[in-house]
Amino acid sequence: MNHDNFLQIAIDGPAAAGKSTQARMLAEKLGGYYINTGDMYRALAHAALQAGIDPEKNPEKLLALLPEWELEYQLDKENQPQLYFNGKPIAQDKLRNPQVTAIVSQVARIPQLREWMLDKQRRSRKLGLVIMEGRDIGSVVLPEAKFKFFITASPMERARRRLAQSSEVSSNASLEQVAEELQKRDFIDSNRELAPLRQADDAIKIVTDGMSKEEVSEMLADMVRKELP
Ligand code: C5P
Repeated sequence: MNHDNFLQIAIDGPAAAGKSTQARMLAEKLGGYYINTGDMYRALAHAALQAGIDPEKNPEKLLALLPEWELEYQLDKENQPQLYFNGKPIAQDKLRNPQVTAIVSQVARIPQLREWMLDKQRRSRKLGLVIMEGRDIGSVVLPEAKFKFFITASPMERARRRLAQSSEVSSNASLEQVAEELQKRDFIDSNRELAPLRQADDAIKIVTDGMSKEEVSEMLADMVRKELP
C-alpha cells in the first residue's frame, strides 16, 4: 500500500514539552488520528514490570518475550485510536505512572526492541491523516511526513507543567526532583545508539515558554492549513 497520499504530521521533542496535548488538539482540529508512540514504549515497560524483568540489567530477557507480544492501535467505538496489547485495550493508568516512567527509557534504548516497534508504529499510517508523536517520528518513523514539528520548552518550564498536571510524578515530588527525572530521561533518549531524540533536519522548532497551549495549537494548525490544498 502506498501511504504517500495520506497526510502525516510528526511531532517530536523532549519529555513534558506538551507534545501529547498538541497532537491531540491538532487531531481534533484537523479531524485526524492521534498516535502516541510513547504509550507504545510504556506498554512494553509495563509488560517488563509485570514479568519482573529489569530492562537495564537483562535486556535479553525482554527481547526473548517480544515474539509473544503484539501491540497495535485500533479504532474504538468513538472512532478514536486505542492501544491494544496482546488483544486487550491497555488503560492510561497502567502507562502513566511513576514506576513505568522510571524504566521506560531503558526499555526504549534497546536497539532490537526499537526495530520490532518500527513496523508496529508505521502500521498506523493506514488510518489516514495521522498525527504521530514521539522522539524519532520525523527522523526515523515517518521521514516522509508532510509536516514535522519539534516542540520544546526550557527544562524548568517543562518540570513545572509536569508537576502541575501529571499522574506520572509521585504525589510528594518536588519541582527539583521532577526536573531531574526529566533530565535523566532526556539524556538516555538523546544518547542511545539507535534513533535518538533529535530534531529532524526539515522540522520546524517551536519553543513554547510563555505560550498557552491554545496559542501553540493555533500556530500549528495555521501552518498546516496554509499548506493544504
Ligand atoms: O512521550 P513519553 O514521555 O510518554 O515517552 C516515554 C518514553 O518512551 C520516552 O522517554 C522515550 O524513552 C520513549 N520514546 C521513544 N521514542 C518515541 C517515543 C517515546 O524512545 N518515538
